[in-house]
Amino acid sequence: MKLFTVGPVEMYPFTLKTAAGQIPYFRTKEFSAMMLESEGLLKKQMHAPDTSRLVFLTASGTGAMEATVFNLFNKDDRLLIIDGGSFGHRFAQICELHGIPHDVLTLSFGESLTSERLEEYSGTAYTGLLVNIHETSTGQLYDINMLSDFCRRKDMLLVADAISSFLADDVNAEKYSIDALITSSQKGLALGPGMSFVLLSERAIHDRIGRISPPSLYLDFSDHLKNQERGQTPFTPAVRVLYELNEMLRHIEYDEGGIENRLNTIRAEAEWFRSQVRGLPHVTIPEYPLSNALTPLIFSGVTAGEVYEAMRYKHEMTLTPNGGELGKKLLRVGHIGYHPHKDQEQLVLALKDVLNGGI
Ligand SMILES: *Cc1c(COP(=O)(O)O)cnc(C)c1O
Repeated sequence: MKLFTVGPVEMYPFTLKTAAGQIPYFRTKEFSAMMLESEGLLKKQMHAPDTSRLVFLTASGTGAMEATVFNLFNKDDRLLIIDGGSFGHRFAQICELHGIPHDVLTLSFGESLTSERLEEYSGTAYTGLLVNIHETSTGQLYDINMLSDFCRRKDMLLVADAISSFLADDVNAEKYSIDALITSSQKGLALGPGMSFVLLSERAIHDRIGRISPPSLYLDFSDHLKNQERGQTPFTPAVRVLYELNEMLRHIEYDEGGIENRLNTIRAEAEWFRSQVRGLPHVTIPEYPLSNALTPLIFSGVTAGEVYEAMRYKHEMTLTPNGGELGKKLLRVGHIGYHPHKDQEQLVLALKDVLNGGI
């Protein structure tokens, strides 16, 4: 079975080997040295300024989204949330639950986030913006330059969930003045699930962390930052995933020759896949700007469910289904993870078979 999912995704042969080994004890100076090296490499690959710091959380991405919100904001704030799908909606649910005042810019399916839509909110004073740079439920990639500019003008903190965008699109903490940049182990990094990483700007640390008391012992960022000064976490982390992380970061840096090469490869694969799909019967690709992490496919004349089943049980390839109403017509094909080009060719052949009547 090959996974063309968005997380967990196909792992690389070298991380699979690590994943099968004994978990080492971690309160050691060797583990600390590895964590400090991982912090340095991850910061480099996120294009982070020296003054920023990383929090290593043992939590899935949603845990990191929630922790970021309640470590940085409270009821004295007013936030703007971009809700273009289920992940944007999750930020709104988090603010609702924690009683943090917020407004929601809602996009309907197929609608692009434009400067006209954003400017509708320019007259209100906000302290922060919450956005999923790539709204993974639809594949839409928002214009980070436009969002960053909006936040600069209005002196707002910018919280960017780049969980499915890091290592697929241009994610640059310094250039876009991102105050909290969130990613997770099971997406572009192609590791086991369980770890999330939150990069914090100097401004976020100085103005927010430590001044706001988070309603959580386990997810208190100041405690994490203090421990990470010596390469440790306050509690037992997903140790194995942290070993996989170090290997992957070193692989990108030293074997692949840096993040730009990784991004060029995935961009080329996504474009190649899209060029092959255009022209097939029963399928279209939406018009809005897309992340390189996945390609959304909209079906007519066949249901997404039928295509999913045929791909999985006839061709042993798992695509990513959607929940709710959208799930009837939309499937997402993940490009993140370990996919040598020959696997992509097999994928296109299988899709051709299915859409030409092979259901
Ligand atoms: C995957 C993902 C998450 C996190 O989902 P979890 O299941 O909690 O790991 C959050 N935001 C985006 C944009 C994602 O793609």
